[in-house]
Amino acid sequence: MKYDVVVLGAGAAGLMAAITAASRKKSVLVIERSNKVGKKILMSGGGRCNFTNTDLEFDNFLSNNEHFCKSALSRYTAWDFIELVKKHEIEFEERKHNQLFCVHSAKDIVNMLLKECEINKVKIIKNSEISSVINLDNEDKLSHEKYRVEGYEKNIKGEEALKIDCKSLIVATGALSVPTLGGSDFGYKLAEQYHMPLNALSAGLVPFMFSDSLKPFCEKLSGISLDAEVRCGDQSFRENILFTHRGLSGPAILQISNYWKPGQEITINLLPERNIAEDLLAEKRLNNKSLIRNYLSSCMSKSLVLQLQDLLWREIAENSLNDISDKKLIKIGFALNQWKVKPSSTEGYRTAEVTLGGVDTNYINSQTMEVNNHQGLYFIGEVLDVTGHLGGFNFQWAWSSGYCAGLVA
Ligand SMILES: Cc1cc2nc3c(=O)[nH]c(=O)nc-3n(C[C@H](O)[C@H](O)[C@H](O)COP(=O)(O)OP(=O)(O)OC[C@H]3O[C@@H](n4cnc5c(N)ncnc54)[C@H](O)[C@@H]3O)c2cc1C
Repeated sequence: MKYDVVVLGAGAAGLMAAITAASRKKSVLVIERSNKVGKKILMSGGGRCNFTNTDLEFDNFLSNNEHFCKSALSRYTAWDFIELVKKHEIEFEERKHNQLFCVHSAKDIVNMLLKECEINKVKIIKNSEISSVINLDNEDKLSHEKYRVEGYEKNIKGEEALKIDCKSLIVATGALSVPTLGGSDFGYKLAEQYHMPLNALSAGLVPFMFSDSLKPFCEKLSGISLDAEVRCGDQSFRENILFTHRGLSGPAILQISNYWKPGQEITINLLPERNIAEDLLAEKRLNNKSLIRNYLSSCMSKSLVLQLQDLLWREIAENSLNDISDKKLIKIGFALNQWKVKPSSTEGYRTAEVTLGGVDTNYINSQTMEVNNHQGLYFIGEVLDVTGHLGGFNFQWAWSSGYCAGLVA
């Protein structure tokens, strides 16, 4: 079998690259390991897919090479993808922080991509895993095909060997996050085969776990969420945090997890609108006879206040506010505005929305996604060392990088 372009992986980036290449009248084959295309799209955004963000800034992306993503993101923007979504009459809505979601289902996005594949005659084979890539450059000088991919296709007859030659090979096999949704290290192995280093990999956009007294603390509060400001080093995010039976999650926690290194503390401002120390002192001056827990229950969940009381002011829990020393009130206020917690780990790749790090982008052309010293070989999407913040940025990177490769492959 011969194709102009073979795309490995039918995720967001692979499908976009295939559609773009096929719209240039290239023969395109997409090879997908699992039984479904776009598994992560289907599960994303709570089933509604946060497919892009209209307030995209380059600093919404992390990479060892911060400039790399700029070209692709400027060539295929959020507005380009929105135009495609509108063309297919998919209803979408803007939620807070300029995040765009499908109104009905993430299936709308997968169906749209499949429809575009059909219109442009992209062939997709599922249940097919590629295990090796061979460079044909030295084998057959007359052939235009540069790469041979080999693997197998599972079908009703069992397993059939696959051997496909192509002029351009686009690697869109994603990264390690969520193996059950297609997470794979295949792209990394291929990068190593072509002598491209990997920048350190770790789980990103991922909940935190605790092994100290905070573990039962979080367990008891499981399901409670609140607006908070979460800080790690110079980086901070203001969004909801969520207590879970394993630790802490919620958008602000997922965002800060991209910046957290094992052993570091994070600081959580549980009442970011207020200076609690000042407020407690002011209440004391007014001769307020309330208990601290009753005073705080007006602005925080009662069960959270009770757990915090156990942690921070158990010995004076039954003292009225006007009967507590200024020093102690300042200490409590400070602890609530700057609650320091030390995660023992993250939940890891099992639940991480993304993988930080990846193929070193210094080896990739930022306009085309082509590998610098290997004509016709492209890497796109999450396999590269480009990771977005939470909010539709990771899909936008997949669309943009996929489009740029598809335009030249
Ligand atoms: C639960 C969850 C929710 C998310 N929600 C959002 C969201 O709302 N908004 C957002 O912007 N981002 C979200 N993300 C992140 C987003 O899904 C990814 O950044 C994006 O899917 C990456 O696209 P990709 O095409 O590079 O990789 P993937 O989507 O992972 O696709 C890679 C494909 O390659 C296939 N594959 C792997 N190895 C092989 C092989 N050897 N041969 C053949 N095929 C292979 C895999 O089966 C997979 O289908 C979410 C992630 C998760 C896990």
